[in-house]
Amino acid sequence: MSENFNGNFTQQAPIPEDGIDAALDVLRSGRLHRYNLGPDEVGEVGLLEREFAAFTGARYALAVASGGYAMATALRALGVAPGEPVLTNAFTLAPVPGAIASVNAVPVFVGVTEDLTIDLDDLAAKAGAARVLMLSHMRGHMCDMDRLMEICDGAGITVIEDCAHTMGAAWNGVPSGRFGKIGCYSTQTYKHMNSGEGGFLVTDDDAVMARAILLSGSYMLYGRHGTVPPDAAFAEIKYTTPNVSGRMDHLRAAILRPQLRNLAQSCADWTARYRVIETGLRGTPGLRIIERPEAERFVGSSFQFLLLDWAAEKVEEVIARCARRGVELKWFGGAEPEGFTSRYDSWRYAPSAPMPASDRVLRGILDMRLPLTFSLEDCAMIARIIRSEVGSVFQAR
Ligand SMILES: *Cc1c(COP(=O)(O)O)cnc(C)c1O
Repeated sequence: MSENFNGNFTQQAPIPEDGIDAALDVLRSGRLHRYNLGPDEVGEVGLLEREFAAFTGARYALAVASGGYAMATALRALGVAPGEPVLTNAFTLAPVPGAIASVNAVPVFVGVTEDLTIDLDDLAAKAGAARVLMLSHMRGHMCDMDRLMEICDGAGITVIEDCAHTMGAAWNGVPSGRFGKIGCYSTQTYKHMNSGEGGFLVTDDDAVMARAILLSGSYMLYGRHGTVPPDAAFAEIKYTTPNVSGRMDHLRAAILRPQLRNLAQSCADWTARYRVIETGLRGTPGLRIIERPEAERFVGSSFQFLLLDWAAEKVEEVIARCARRGVELKWFGGAEPEGFTSRYDSWRYAPSAPMPASDRVLRGILDMRLPLTFSLEDCAMIARIIRSEVGSVFQAR
């Protein structure tokens, strides 16, 4: 009898009880809007901004309505103009090119390596093409950030980091989101903190944060933010910066603050699950593990492996066989965008030339979520199932 897994890959952990209590307090107060504050009150959103800034080591943090909104705001705050090219990853998810398109800029895709990180040679080759890179740490894989910054600094490229999958991660001890000028994060349900929808933008730059605060819909109440640049940073731009509402509210902030206090532990718990899967899959014939660099402190909230150079129908067979045993794998090689998964050539609003080396990698990427509701034993079983099904299909090739 073969074993079957019956866990749910989209079931996240519950909101901590102290978050639920804090949320009820906000609801009972009726004061949900971030600027609905007493005279000296900072409020849940402002406190969360201070705590998130401290967590990342950034001077300023802005809490907003979504990760995608944070990225679009970052582009606007840098003055990215309509029609302007913006470098970004070919291997990422739809909100990334979507944020670029939302300011009528044009994504220029940079390839992906077999380590699932941005191809730095391709980046160096395209560095002259744009003044901004929207770097997506897709699925938590960080490239050699020292080399990336060297390339970008050398070419005068400003870096925005999309940390939707790297909240809590670091490279050589520097937190993800702190290499570029701006770091963007998501607190959407499937990320590392869960407020349904939500996000952050962090920076050390006075002018960028002043613009981002005004853009987020602060009216003239910017002084009430948790982390505020000096008044002078607002003096001119408060007349010229449009209000593009995308604020966070106290209810979400109340839910997030206890999760932030517990984030380091959650990250450790994810990575422990990741390591169990990695150990269980290591040495499976035909399956390539993504080796994680020493310098990378990653958060293993999802797991990827490669079936590199496999025929499409064999990959589909593995996916179908694992699905029958309760293990949900997503594939980046499918011709049609499906669920949360799509490819650079399925975003038809953005021009792209074929990228054969990246296509080869994308065709091999299998992806699954590892929610904290899975136990380490669950993860060991998932690995056994994948190992046996990949093994069966590989042998029968
Ligand atoms: C989820 C996600 C985002 C943005 O998240 P939203 O909060 O849903 O807008 C950005 N980049 C990546 C890679 C994501 O997965």
